[in-house]
Amino acid sequence: MVFNTHFHFDHIAYNYLFDESRIFINEKEAPCFRDRRAIPPIIGIEEVYGKGWADGWLQRIADPTTEESPYSPQNNHEWWLSTARLDGEYAWGEVLDFGKVQMHVIGAPGHSGGFSCMYFPRYGAIYVADLDLTPFGPWYAGSDGDIDLFISSCRMIENVDAEFFITGHEMGILSKKEFRTGMEGYLAVIEERDKKILSVLSAPFSLEEVVDRGLIYDRKYHMDAWIYMWEFITIKKHLRRLEQQQRISRIGDRFVAV
Ligand SMILES: [Zn+2]
Repeated sequence: MVFNTHFHFDHIAYNYLFDESRIFINEKEAPCFRDRRAIPPIIGIEEVYGKGWADGWLQRIADPTTEESPYSPQNNHEWWLSTARLDGEYAWGEVLDFGKVQMHVIGAPGHSGGFSCMYFPRYGAIYVADLDLTPFGPWYAGSDGDIDLFISSCRMIENVDAEFFITGHEMGILSKKEFRTGMEGYLAVIEERDKKILSVLSAPFSLEEVVDRGLIYDRKYHMDAWIYMWEFITIKKHLRRLEQQQRISRIGDRFVAV
């Protein structure tokens, strides 16, 4: 059995190699496998580029000869292969009993809408996937991402009674102490992004003008439509949150620091 924690490319990419296994994903994101047209609205493609572009994207990933980007997995044919089959769904709060091993599914939305961490109490271990404490910081750049949910999910997961926190990228296996200590710097990146945006907004700028500064991803990568999409959605979410916190105000389609 193969359990995907969420639908992002780097967490499903080799599903198709497990042709004798059963593939599972959380029930919220299962529609992405049942009909790939469910992917563009939640990953951000529709929000940034519209429905026509999304249809073109589905055609590009269906074609094994489409040229891939060196910077993002946007045109990777493995998107198509890895979403070709789904054998079951799991739900948040579910406990799967494999005999000697029990796996608790903990819902931790914010990174994606259905994002799930897999907790193995018998082994004191939890797979935290993309709550990964990497220096880049939290990633919530899909349309289904949410900054405040990301923070509350991290706070909940760091309190799970586990000794081993197994990350999905770069950091490897962390002790509870390492995970909790690292979490402070990791979440502080969100405030650092706010501060960068606020310093730009000492003068009024539109969303697009802030995006063009490349505060999250260096501008040289913006030529990749997906990197630009991630930058756009990340900045948009920060602006919305800063506005709610009354740290910026809106003048027409421009924003300025209060
Ligand atoms: Zn992810």
